[in-house]
Amino acid sequence: MNPLFTAGGTPQAAPDAALAAGAGLQITRAGSRPVNAAPEQYFTGQVSVEMLQVPSGEERSSAGAVSFKPGARTHWHSHPLGQTLIVTAGVGRIQRWGGPVEEIRVGDVVHIPPHTKHWHGAAPDSAMTHTAITEVLNGSAADWLEPVTDTQYQERPEPVLASASTAPSQGQQLFGDIAPQFAQLTDEVLFGQVWARPGLSQRDRSLITVAALIAMNRPDQLRGHLARAQANGLSDAELIEATTHLAFYAGWPSAVTAIGVARDVFAADDKR
Ligand code: MN
Repeated sequence: MNPLFTAGGTPQAAPDAALAAGAGLQITRAGSRPVNAAPEQYFTGQVSVEMLQVPSGEERSSAGAVSFKPGARTHWHSHPLGQTLIVTAGVGRIQRWGGPVEEIRVGDVVHIPPHTKHWHGAAPDSAMTHTAITEVLNGSAADWLEPVTDTQYQERPEPVLASASTAPSQGQQLFGDIAPQFAQLTDEVLFGQVWARPGLSQRDRSLITVAALIAMNRPDQLRGHLARAQANGLSDAELIEATTHLAFYAGWPSAVTAIGVARDVFAADDKR
């Protein structure tokens, strides 16, 4: 059994040859690592694991990419030395014992302190993959408890708004003074409901929105959405790459306009 889940035993020793050669770097190439079903006694639903790092010798860190089909989740459990989860695909759920069910999305990072009872898994209507980084103590990475019941799992999480900012909402900022009801609709329907739908990550929503605004040559709306795209995890280089790509589909003048807007937005970042 792999060390993400072991509840006892000794960590795997490093091969003698590797030690004799004096710790060389080890690269395992993408697609070359085995993907196995997660142990059924600790999970509900379909879960697979690709081990990324197996500790050897004095090492403690283990890392695995864990993929949950919709509805799948771990049992309740805790970790002797804590755990860090990095969501790399889809939409998931996580709950600390006694706390609310919370939604997690691509790019979110969750740290679980040592000895904290919790579970994690996919949303009911979306798969989820996270990288789990867990330190192994005396051969144990997790202490496993009872399954998460359907009633516990089905508790609705608080919606995650597109922007967690406490500043006035987007709609209120843009036209709350002159068109308050339009501002309210913009906030509640566009940013509250459409942007919060789990079918696409916030990053992907930003990328397609920016692409549409570039193609339609809408610099006023593009300005705000470039900043939102940065907040949703798109780098400046990726936004320029998208613009370069679009020059061939949307036309050179649209791309030139977009580059000008991007220059202003990126320059404003530098001043902050
Ligand atoms: Mn955990």
